Amino acid sequence: MSTLLKTENLTYIYGRKTAFEKAAVRNVNIEIKKGEIIGVIGHTGSGKSTLMQMLNGLITPTEGKVYLDGNDIFTSKKSLREVRFRVGLVFQYPENQLFEDTVRKDISFGPRNMGLDNAEVAERVKSAAHFAGLKDELLDRSPFDLSGGEKRRAAIAGVIAMEPEILILDEPTAGLDPMGRDVLLSQIENYHKTRGNTVLLVSHNMEDIAKIADRVLVMYRGEAVMFDTTKEVFSHGEELEKMGLRLPQITKITESLRKAGVNLSEGILTTGQAFAEITSLLRKEGKL
Ligand code: ADP
Repeated sequence: MSTLLKTENLTYIYGRKTAFEKAAVRNVNIEIKKGEIIGVIGHTGSGKSTLMQMLNGLITPTEGKVYLDGNDIFTSKKSLREVRFRVGLVFQYPENQLFEDTVRKDISFGPRNMGLDNAEVAERVKSAAHFAGLKDELLDRSPFDLSGGEKRRAAIAGVIAMEPEILILDEPTAGLDPMGRDVLLSQIENYHKTRGNTVLLVSHNMEDIAKIADRVLVMYRGEAVMFDTTKEVFSHGEELEKMGLRLPQITKITESLRKAGVNLSEGILTTGQAFAEITSLLRKEGKL
């Protein structure tokens, strides 16, 4: 697969030349291929959100470049506008993304700006709301009357309505209950499978990342310190813990069982994998 998104020495400094100067992202060099699902993890303040905002051109890097299909995205206003349609970013705080007087208008905003006709916009709003699990009756309400979880769904719908090639979700499951979280994750996976688009998922939830990511990017103090397959990254449990990151609970449990002599594979990352291995083991032993 070819490289779709690439960064070169990407750096962002907040409050440059003030007493509050803060290098939030430092010298990040990453390449993402078309169709990958990338998990992005890191302690709070490690630079994840800042990095994501540069990837869709929302903020301009202090230094370095972002290339989409080999083209520098910051060369002109026109190219930046196109980039925002192609690279959809759902913010960490969805209320920052909602500003119209109805949810319907908010979700329509992107597709309208893309120049789609009314019928197409209406169709996009309907399917995006459905994707995000937003009930029809909420579409004519003010976004400010929605609950935290509903606001998040509305913000997700607004980005999905543009059908972006690259979908960036910054903590999309925060504020959702476990059931809502699972449903949203499988929706994201389905979107990826049916359209073959690229997904970047920023999450504190290691189980979520383990479930869907092909590769994982680890941010630490503004730097990209690991970028490898999910299995490889999660095999560095001790290093991750030093960076304030915990392995999925199920990985810890199955590793303890392995150490106690139970015949399980190394590096189990999800409860689904653990369930399959344990039932097959019990069957072999005639206990099931
Ligand atoms: P993360 O998403 O991993 O929590 P952020 O990208 O939000 O990290 O933040 C990285 C660093 O930049 C943190 O130290 C944070 O305090 C700082 N920072 C983020 N936004 C701003 C801002 N608007 N002004 C000044 N500093 C900021």
